[in-house]
Amino acid sequence: MSTGLVSVAYVVASICFILSLGGLSHQESARRGNLYGVAGIIIAVGATLASVGDGGIIAIVIAVLIGAGIGIPIANKVEMTQMPQLVALLHSFVGLAAVLVGFSGYIEPLIATTGAEHTIKLVEVFVGIFIGAVTFTGSLVACGKLDGRIDSKALTLPGRHLMNLVAVIACVLLGAWFLGTNSMAFGLISLVLMTAIASVLGIHLIMAIGGADMPVVVSMLNSYSGWAAASIGFMLGNDLLIVTGALVGSSGAILSYIMCKAMNRSFISVILGGFGQTSSSSATADADQTVHESSVDDVCDELRTADSVIIVPGYGMAVAQAQNGVSDMTRILRERGVDVRFGIHPVAGRLPGHMNVLLAEAHVPYDIVLEMDEINADFPETDVVLVIGANDTVNPAAAEDPGSPIAGMPVLEVWKARQVVVLKRGMATGYSGVENPLFFKDNTRMLFGDAKESIDKLVSSLRS
Ligand code: NDP
Repeated sequence: MSTGLVSVAYVVASICFILSLGGLSHQESARRGNLYGVAGIIIAVGATLASVGDGGIIAIVIAVLIGAGIGIPIANKVEMTQMPQLVALLHSFVGLAAVLVGFSGYIEPLIATTGAEHTIKLVEVFVGIFIGAVTFTGSLVACGKLDGRIDSKALTLPGRHLMNLVAVIACVLLGAWFLGTNSMAFGLISLVLMTAIASVLGIHLIMAIGGADMPVVVSMLNSYSGWAAASIGFMLGNDLLIVTGALVGSSGAILSYIMCKAMNRSFISVILGGFGQTSSSSATADADQTVHESSVDDVCDELRTADSVIIVPGYGMAVAQAQNGVSDMTRILRERGVDVRFGIHPVAGRLPGHMNVLLAEAHVPYDIVLEMDEINADFPETDVVLVIGANDTVNPAAAEDPGSPIAGMPVLEVWKARQVVVLKRGMATGYSGVENPLFFKDNTRMLFGDAKESIDKLVSSLRS
């Protein structure tokens, strides 16, 4: 394939990716967005394959077969609730790729360069490896935290900001040495040292971010992986990779900003870490507090007599896979004339849009699924709120307890409704590890049990 045709194919693929991002921003157009994305990838991979020689194709096919052989079984096995850790792991691969491409680009450059062009290439290599190393180790830590293998609490070492600053300054000095030296050996030594420091920095940065701030970390690492891909594009002189990386990098940065706004955090304070620790929580469980337990029959009676119901799903609904039952219950109640709507917190579940995806999959109509800002003012006029496996996102401590680690995070103010029913298995805390005073309020009833089993029982009770 001629270089001109490859460039045209890359431009078409880039347009597909832009249309894909546009489509994915709304539920109604998400399917179309996905199709654009798939088309873009097919065009991009096809053009890349067509532009390399026979030897290159064989190497690519072998690499793809090995990757698919490992990836397909893993992807088939992963539950929807494990997607965040899988995504974090995939981000780490992009980071690792940037590091490896950077080293190989330095040791055996594809194009010989001189003068200013050579300096620019060296800067690309250095910055690409730096971003890649931070992304690689940071994503691995995020994966461990999301998977529960690493404690989700923030690690707040004394003088941690100073340590980060020293690490960055050390990398800048190594960068100056790298650019100044004519020796390949010294160049490699500075690159290896910088990679080690950047790797530790990546670990430390993510270890310092705790509990409820993890959604921002996931989107931030998404952004880093985009910039790492763009840096690979610069190193390889591949325009498509530069454009695609920049699209992922900037959309991840915008998502991080939206997440920060939703959680009332400044981006800088999240990056610097330290939030979401449980130790300072003043909202600890009090032995004197009473929990009002309810039964399926009682909840069914409440629902039958209600005019308005708001359903607030959370991570527990995803774990229980209760969305289809929830959809059936919604249909039954609506057929009986009950005004049923859903309130979705921006960080509910473990992925941006997690609840929206599950509800869409269960055919819940889009127009009754509302964002937190659209529904929060309606709780005082609501008869019954069903909280299905949500915890942190409905925690009144965020609004009422300035000492709480999640203080200031906007939450769904479910406790303002006439009656709140919480469906969960026990009294466990949510992801942030913060106790939830909602469970002890006078107007809260706890329906203990697996959310799917409880919802299925409610559905058969409502049908009878
Ligand atoms: P939480 O994680 O706060 O709470 C989920 C609750 O579900 C638990 O308290 C658990 O209690 C209950 N649960 C678990 N399994 C079941 C089951 N089978 N049946 C019924 N209940 C169950 O959920 P939220 O959605 O409210 O909050 C999300 C949290 O995750 C936030 O802290 C957010 O910051 C964080 N996060 C979000 C990400 C995102 O992108 N959306 C990414 C990373 C983190 P019990 O065990 O007692 O049943």
